[in-house]
Amino acid sequence: MFCYRHPDRPAIEQCETCGRPVCAACLWYTEDGERLCEEHAAGRKATGEPIVPPERYVEAHDDAQADALRGAHTATAPYQGNTIDVLALVAAVVGVVAFSLNFGGIYVLPIFGLVLGALAVLQAGQSLNRKRTATLGWIALGASVVGIVFWLVIFFSCIGLTFLPIFFSSILNPNNPPIYPTSAPYLTPTP
Ligand SMILES: [Zn+2]
Ligand SMILES: [Zn+2]
Repeated sequence: MFCYRHPDRPAIEQCETCGRPVCAACLWYTEDGERLCEEHAAGRKATGEPIVPPERYVEAHDDAQADALRGAHTATAPYQGNTIDVLALVAAVVGVVAFSLNFGGIYVLPIFGLVLGALAVLQAGQSLNRKRTATLGWIALGASVVGIVFWLVIFFSCIGLTFLPIFFSSILNPNNPPIYPTSAPYLTPTP
């Protein structure tokens, strides 16, 4: 079903007065949530009733509009699915990631996040919902950067905790030779 004013745009609602299908840009609301087409909104506005213009909610309708578009172009979409399909995809990814953690996968995970996030942000223009794709890409980028920084902090903290005490002890007591760990003396058994 397509918008009565825009034959190329899928409708997301119907006017509750005349029943005509309207797209997100042609959907008006009364204060108590009644959905109207532009003509009937104008009629109600003339009586002094407060009417909410489409611009107020068009952002919130982006997802619904994208879903409607997806329904109209299923033949060309490389990945077709609703929320449950995406759920299965995410479940498979999480399972594979959890499996790889047993083999050091946790060290390369942030790098994958960086690459995939950058791809998502750069290619967002070709997605059905570019705003949602770009947001998810930036989340991946941000989380991956935090992950990499966290690992670097842990790595250098371990190095620091191992070597700094030795370093400072040799500075504070220049007369003492630096104390490096040596193997414990070997006890020779007495006959
Ligand atoms: Zn109407
Ligand atoms: Zn329209």
